[in-house]
Amino acid sequence: MPEPGAASGPPPRLDLRQRVADAAARRQASDTERVRHAVTRRDGSRCEVDGAWLVNWSSNDYLGLSQQFQVVDALQDAALRDGAGGIASHLVSGHHAAHEALERELADWLQAPRALLFGGGYLANLAVMQALLGDEDLCVQDRLNHASLIDAARLAGCRLRRYPHADAEGAMRQLRSVPAGAAMLASDGVFSMDGDVAPLRELAIAARLQRALLYVDDAHGVGVLGPEGRGSVAAARLTSTDVPLQLATLGKALGGHGAVVAGDDALVEHLLQTARPYIYTTALPPAQAAASLAAVRLARREHWRRDKLNAVVGHFKVRAAKLGLPLMPSDTPIQPLLCGDNARALAMAASLRQAGCWVVAIRPPTVAEGRARLRITLTAGHDHAQVDALVEALARAQERFPASVEAPGGAADGA
Ligand SMILES: *Cc1c(COP(=O)(O)O)cnc(C)c1O
Repeated sequence: MPEPGAASGPPPRLDLRQRVADAAARRQASDTERVRHAVTRRDGSRCEVDGAWLVNWSSNDYLGLSQQFQVVDALQDAALRDGAGGIASHLVSGHHAAHEALERELADWLQAPRALLFGGGYLANLAVMQALLGDEDLCVQDRLNHASLIDAARLAGCRLRRYPHADAEGAMRQLRSVPAGAAMLASDGVFSMDGDVAPLRELAIAARLQRALLYVDDAHGVGVLGPEGRGSVAAARLTSTDVPLQLATLGKALGGHGAVVAGDDALVEHLLQTARPYIYTTALPPAQAAASLAAVRLARREHWRRDKLNAVVGHFKVRAAKLGLPLMPSDTPIQPLLCGDNARALAMAASLRQAGCWVVAIRPPTVAEGRARLRITLTAGHDHAQVDALVEALARAQERFPASVEAPGGAADGA
């Protein structure tokens, strides 16, 4: 019984609406509010946004496959035959021959014994860790890994230890620090906001020495890097023995939607049997699988797409260097320009937009505080003239909004 008159009892119930209002006010004050822009038409690298045609420099359609006619044809044909939806989960009645054909093609391409389709990369990452890791286990991750890998370790309930970016020695130390339980070492193949490539050969050695399973999230590498576009694992001359599981997404270089985990037969079967983000969700529409099958075949065969992409990346880097633009070190199609504070990144993005270039300012919490950037992505659909115009516009934006002397301490809730 509560003591009469005393201010005891349970603490007062918190007001969720007040909390939400406070968070909104903080976003406003720190220039971290996000705004969506509805595209009304897409035409290759260009799109119509708010009534203006802009060149899109913030798309992951690296090979230009999302509008390729064979890919769209495959989607249309399959939709006419089988409909628009997935209709049920894979283990109920949603599994379709189109899914199997795509899984076989992806396994063959990635030179893995087996592949399993998921509704998206985010779900696939949740699935891998939730199915394989428990309370007693350890997941060691690069500090700059994608949010879905971090969330996946949290969902799995395992111990999560992070190491300094691209530091294989650091990974080794973290693995050694928790010798008991099973261990997974997980890294982006290409870092999604930085564009650099993980030191996969060194990570493979660390994983082998510490008997940890190496998992590579190659969302931005597959289709783009390595022989036949097989991704960063193949580019590092590693096999599915070194990397028993890897993630490829279908929504980026392959221009579709969904994801696949490829690797060891027994591990993949375990995912199918136990991963909740696989079991308790509707299968991808078979039409989407048919589109991705067409896209994978093109990505494998049409080397000219990668050659063109690499030429665009090379041209951009040369031009940007000539004008002294402070690009981050990257050889991939992800070419970020560091701006520092959020307001500056937003102002530069707005200035680029006036010049017909759509480049999105990436801010915390997607990147660290004080590391806001323009994340420029180049695609095979861009041409050199468009790159020249972009570089000019970047140089002008830099002049108009010079970097501040030094951001005051990088505080979260901006001064
Ligand atoms: C985009 C991305 C994902 C998520 O994939 P979706 O298919 O978009 O859900 C996972 N990991 C990385 C590194 C990514 O860039």
